[in-house]
Amino acid sequence: MPEPIARDQSRTLRTPQDLLRAGLVAEAMLPALEEVAARYATAITPAMAALITPGDPADPIGLQYLPDPAELTIAPHEMEDPTADAPFTPVKGVVHRYPDRALLKPLLACPVYCRFCFRREKVGPDGGVLTEAELESALLWFEGNTAIREVILTGGDPLMLSARRLGEILGRLAGMAHIETLRIHTRVPVADPARVTGALVAAMRQAKPVFIAVHANHAREFTPDAAMALARLAEAGVPLLGQTVLLRGVNDEAPALEALLRAMIRNRIKPYYLHSLDPAPGTARFQVPEDDGLALMAALRGRLPGHALPFFVRETPMGGGKKAVS
Ligand SMILES: *Cc1c(COP(=O)(O)O)cnc(C)c1O
Ligand code: SF4
Repeated sequence: MPEPIARDQSRTLRTPQDLLRAGLVAEAMLPALEEVAARYATAITPAMAALITPGDPADPIGLQYLPDPAELTIAPHEMEDPTADAPFTPVKGVVHRYPDRALLKPLLACPVYCRFCFRREKVGPDGGVLTEAELESALLWFEGNTAIREVILTGGDPLMLSARRLGEILGRLAGMAHIETLRIHTRVPVADPARVTGALVAAMRQAKPVFIAVHANHAREFTPDAAMALARLAEAGVPLLGQTVLLRGVNDEAPALEALLRAMIRNRIKPYYLHSLDPAPGTARFQVPEDDGLALMAALRGRLPGHALPFFVRETPMGGGKKAVS
């Protein structure tokens, strides 16, 4: 184990130098990590950095967020846009694959950058924020498409927007007669719970229901601060759903997955999807064979309340949408 260095707990770690200073990587790794950093964004919030055991290469939080030279090795089956968002984008920031619902991506920044992210070629701190005009075009698209009943805000992470901005966008969408529900996909409540302020929670109070799907992959992510953030959202009447990516070394053993699902229901989150990993570039080290995933799901049935079991799904290539793994 490297000598633990005084760890700066006050700000998000964004460069290999930051990671070195925080004692999370060895100095000998720096040249390789600089190469990774030139290609893929890094961010580890203080909340998540505090959970990582320095020097433990098997740490399930470290595995999710610490850059790894293996990211520069692209396997033959890996794709830049594994969910095929691009061909289903009628206007910038919108992805329309299903008749009744569509995605709105107001920005591409995240609180943390997950090393297995399916949008890793697109996300990053430079934001990909829709301009005023682009956002207006996207909102006009939703206004004109009256078959859409649900708008799913994703990105990037929509909770990286200011509370005011988010409230304005939700308000515009909720004001459309054909829109019945809104949904936000986010990692903020666990990865950066300090962002869940009173103002942010207030932005969820809209004329239409706002659901939040929280992305979490390991029980340890549910810190006391995360629990408080989630409780505030639940108390504001926001139904909480859980989304998990099945990841080798993080949650691919029954006790770890069980602990995660139990942490979710304790925090009023209904586990919704367990995603089979999308083949984004340089993520092969996380891949779990689908048969192993099915065996895990079978092992958990009966061991947990039925409502704690998510659907195990994969994204079909070429934009075919989510399908049950069976
Ligand atoms: C995942 C996804 C949705 C949401 O699907 P649900 O099964 O309702 O969670 C909607 N649109 C696109 C393009 C998606 O990829
Ligand atoms: S928070 Fe979501 S969009 Fe952002 S890097 Fe992680 S998986 Fe990708």
